[in-house]
Amino acid sequence: MKPPRFEYHAPSTVDETCALLASLEDAKVLAGGQSLMPLLNFRLARPAHLVDINRIGGLDRIYERDRGVAVQALARQAAVEDSELVASVCPLLSAAVRLVAHRVIRNRGTVCGSIAHADPASELPAVLLALGGHVVARSKRGERKIEAGGLFAGVFETSIAPDELLVEAWFPKSPKPFAIFEESRRHGDFALAGVVRAGDTLALFGVAPTPVLADAKDPSRGLQPSSDLEATPEFRLHLVRALTLKAFAA
Ligand SMILES: Cc1cc2nc3c(=O)[nH]c(=O)nc-3n(C[C@H](O)[C@H](O)[C@H](O)COP(=O)(O)OP(=O)(O)OC[C@H]3O[C@@H](n4cnc5c(N)ncnc54)[C@H](O)[C@@H]3O)c2cc1C
Repeated sequence: MKPPRFEYHAPSTVDETCALLASLEDAKVLAGGQSLMPLLNFRLARPAHLVDINRIGGLDRIYERDRGVAVQALARQAAVEDSELVASVCPLLSAAVRLVAHRVIRNRGTVCGSIAHADPASELPAVLLALGGHVVARSKRGERKIEAGGLFAGVFETSIAPDELLVEAWFPKSPKPFAIFEESRRHGDFALAGVVRAGDTLALFGVAPTPVLADAKDPSRGLQPSSDLEATPEFRLHLVRALTLKAFAA
């Protein structure tokens, strides 16, 4: 299918992007397009405007900040996967990004796009939550930091406002031990359920509308996972318990 009609904008600076997002009604940021383009093609999203940020220079850095790693909006998942800095400061992020889709998708997909998209079955939002990281959002109104705990609001929903551009995500240094485990039907598919361990902290994905923190001694308590063609709620709860045991034995 072809996407519905939209007006295309290609700003070359962050300021220009923020001005566009402030002035346009019903605009969506286009980063790697690996989630947004399928949504458009299936006509599940019909924004009036697309603001393509790929022409903004200097927004693809991965750099050390405050004893953690900052990943800017245009840093591709593959660049994070290959980064020696990420491997040394936040090896949990290196391990997690390898579980996202396939390399061809990671060549375009961005870490910030994955976080902004907030798919409940995504690995990277759960990693941000487990580590207690944050994102930085910029708009014409200024810049603000949003802690991971206050970021994920529901299925595909975040507290990033429509006029805000997520300019970077910050991941603290990985504590030891760390682990990420997931179960999916085939390699590269979205997870049926997954767990992230960062020291004593446990975050789960694929079992609630957002990634959630859980008690490692009773990880499935209070969860009501959805049922679909891939898995029943009971199977998802079973996976969470089994993967948590594995993560805390590792
Ligand atoms: C076959 C396939 C398998 C996949 N498997 C997985 C998987 O296993 N795990 C997983 O996590 N993901 C998976 N994905 C999704 C992939 O990781 C996407 O790259 C990612 O979710 C979105 O990143 P993007 O840069 O492509 O964002 P886009 O598709 O460009 O945008 C996604 C959404 O985020 C918004 N957005 C993007 N960047 C910003 C920004 N800087 N500021 C504000 N809003 C922004 C957009 O407006 C849009 O709403 C898969 C995709 C495909 C096609």
